[in-house]
Amino acid sequence: MNDTVCPRCHSENPGIARFCAHCGLALDAKGTGVLAAGQVRHPSPEAEPADFEPVRDAENLFFRARPAWGDSALLGTEPFEIHLFNGGYDLMEIVCEAIGLGRNGQTVYRAEHECDHLPRGASKILEVPSYDVNEPIKRFTVRLVSASFDWSPNTHDA
Ligand SMILES: [Zn+2]
Repeated sequence: MNDTVCPRCHSENPGIARFCAHCGLALDAKGTGVLAAGQVRHPSPEAEPADFEPVRDAENLFFRARPAWGDSALLGTEPFEIHLFNGGYDLMEIVCEAIGLGRNGQTVYRAEHECDHLPRGASKILEVPSYDVNEPIKRFTVRLVSASFDWSPNTHDA
């Protein structure tokens, strides 16, 4: 079996390894060794915060969308805030696609949002400006497009 190169710290591990011997990242031993940041399940993730829901195509990432002006939407076309929470590995360069669904489930908003740095246990707000919202949004879904591992040995617990 081929070695698996850890996608976070780039050290080589036996193909059957379930965790990287160097940095402890969970490895997908049954897969091809191709692992994407944001899609590797953390062995002891932070709990999903109340009222959040999972980000699609991701592990340990959650979101909650709210009107920026308060708890309930007045018009549906006001600015929204999407709170992104990371319960897994430290991540950088996160790109998410946010999709706003209208009254009949149709897509009325679709845009990519970026987040430079999102450590484990942290949350960030992605802003959806009102000038991008032309029709009332009833709810959002969020999908992970890509991310990078933040592997900083200096700040990481050994
Ligand atoms: Zn590693």
